[in-house]
Amino acid sequence: MSKFLKNKLFRYLYLCLFLNSLILPVNSSSALAAWTLKTNGVLELRTKSNTNLKAYFQKGNQLYGDRFWVDFPGELKNPRTIKGNGPIKEIRLGKPNMGKTRLVIEFKEETYLTPLTWRMVGLDQNRWRIKLFTPKYSFKEISEGIVTKKTRNIKANQNSRYVKKRTNDYLQLPNVKQNKFLVVIDPGHGGLDPGAIGIGGIRETDVVLEVSKIVKKLLSDKGVKVFLTRKNEVDLDLSPRVSFANRKDADIFVSIHANASRGKRRDINGLETFYFRGWRGRLLAKRIQKQILRVSPGSPDRGVKQGRFYVIKNTRMPAVLVEIGFLTGRLDARRLEKNTHRKRIAYAIAKGILEYLSKAG
Ligand SMILES: [Zn+2]
Repeated sequence: MSKFLKNKLFRYLYLCLFLNSLILPVNSSSALAAWTLKTNGVLELRTKSNTNLKAYFQKGNQLYGDRFWVDFPGELKNPRTIKGNGPIKEIRLGKPNMGKTRLVIEFKEETYLTPLTWRMVGLDQNRWRIKLFTPKYSFKEISEGIVTKKTRNIKANQNSRYVKKRTNDYLQLPNVKQNKFLVVIDPGHGGLDPGAIGIGGIRETDVVLEVSKIVKKLLSDKGVKVFLTRKNEVDLDLSPRVSFANRKDADIFVSIHANASRGKRRDINGLETFYFRGWRGRLLAKRIQKQILRVSPGSPDRGVKQGRFYVIKNTRMPAVLVEIGFLTGRLDARRLEKNTHRKRIAYAIAKGILEYLSKAG
């Protein structure tokens, strides 16, 4: 972080942190591929896939107006300043330090902004959107490059069907040997025990059961035998879940849960995966954690951890417990209540499992 940021005289607001697995080497080119500030005050960004973004807001002072900036990994070639219009004074692209790119949007003095309501939304693997202001008068779009189209792919391959397939590549699940593996999926809680209750009354038991059923379907389509510890709303104790998996002699055991924070804090979001012992359990946890993060941009990576949960401690096969987000967190809950996101999370878990099985199974 630059000296400027550490200076306590400046009030800055840390907006979002996107954690992902790929860290680019210092000398690589900028991860920012294109950006556009649209007439409705929405900033859209296109980056390399798996990019860490950090966004900040800083109140204006005598020298500068209010500023919003985003830091990207990779070094910018040509620092430049672009004149603004409407509420925008100017937009600067610079390298705050070696190997970094910074996009700064400086507002004119009189602009009224509400940074506390700002939220960076990941549109897909490499596109982002944040609403910065609502123009009072007309505002002319400012942009560099094309955010919406994947121009690089189109250039590289004229076959449009191929391009389409590539943009959905997170949907491509790896193949494993058919009829070789047996997986037990354990949807947490159930019946009288709803698990975590989140914003708007969203219940862990419902979310994880639905996700688990989709995971089962996806794995079955790949020739993996899958058993669920519960198929409906029954209150199932922990020990029958374990003995079921042990009796089936499953290759792996995956327990699916969603989190709640103490005091139901809406600012706490994130994903985490636990294992109890062994490199296999750890590898399985890592594969799943990596994939669920990919489909949950903006939600913090709480990591792969060792945990002493009963179901992963007492099962005899590599076993993990995955927490797919905080139902009490504003960002996670809003996502987990949507079917589209539940499907994406299920895809991600299935992908992590299949990756593990193809490598270590
Ligand atoms: Zn739970």
